[in-house]
Parts: sequence; C-alpha cells; structure tokens
Amino acid sequence: MDCIFCKIASGEIPSKKVYEDGDMLAFYDINPMAKVHVLVIPKTHIDNIDGINAENSACVAKIFGKMGEIAKAAGITNGYRVISNCGRDAKQSVMHLHFHILGGEELPERLA
Ligand code: 5GP
Ligand code: ZN
Repeated sequence: MDCIFCKIASGEIPSKKVYEDGDMLAFYDINPMAKVHVLVIPKTHIDNIDGINAENSACVAKIFGKMGEIAKAAGITNGYRVISNCGRDAKQSVMHLHFHILGGEELPERLA
C-alpha cells in the first residue's frame, strides 16, 4: 500500500520524532500550523476515525493515554488542541489516521 504515514511509521521516510513505541509514532508536521505542531499516528494502518472499531481501538486509547506526555516532550506547557480530520468535508489529506497536536502559543480561533 502506498501510504506516506505507513512509510514514516516504518522509517522508510524520515521524520523528526517526538515519541515512539511499538504502537505509535509522534513526529513534527512538515508544514506547521502552530508554533508546535505534532502528528500522532498508530503504526498500524487505519484510514481515519471511521476506520476505528472494537478490534483496533486499543492503539487509539493508548495514543490518548500518551497525548499529554507527547505534548510535554514537544515543549508544550500551556495547553494544546487535538484535531483529527476525517473525510472530505474536513479536508483530510493523508488517509492514515492521525491526531494533530497544536500548541506552543495562544491558538487563533476555535472551530469546536
Ligand atoms: P490532514 O490534512 O490529513 O489532517 O493532515 C495531514 C498533515 O500531514 C498535514 O498537516 C501535512 O503538513 C502533514 N504531512 C504531509 N506529508 C508529510 C510528511 O511527509 N512529513 C511530515 N512530517 N508531515 C507531513
Ligand atoms: Zn498508512
């Protein structure tokens, strides 16, 4: 499968890593939308939130259990926003489940 985030997860495409274990990888977004912009992905391929089910949701729970630690490791000290774009209207551009962590500054607006 030709998935850029699977290739980043396997190390085939390099990334600037913030955190990694057997189930997930956190790395800096190549085109940051905030002073600190980290992406967190499960190493196993899931298209997006619609692809989460009872069989694969453990890695998602694990990601959320590490979110604060990852934000801190990226230097975020004063709060952050977590976003996951799912599907066309949300303008998802990479079809591998990922959570954006945005912070490191006062964020400009809120959509939710
Ligand atoms: P989406 O629009 O799907 O929610 O987010 C995809 C994100 O992946 C974008 O913010 C984009 O900048 C980031 N991105 C796309 N390709 C790469 C890459 O090769 N390396 C890194 N570090 N980020 C990428
Ligand atoms: Zn993938």
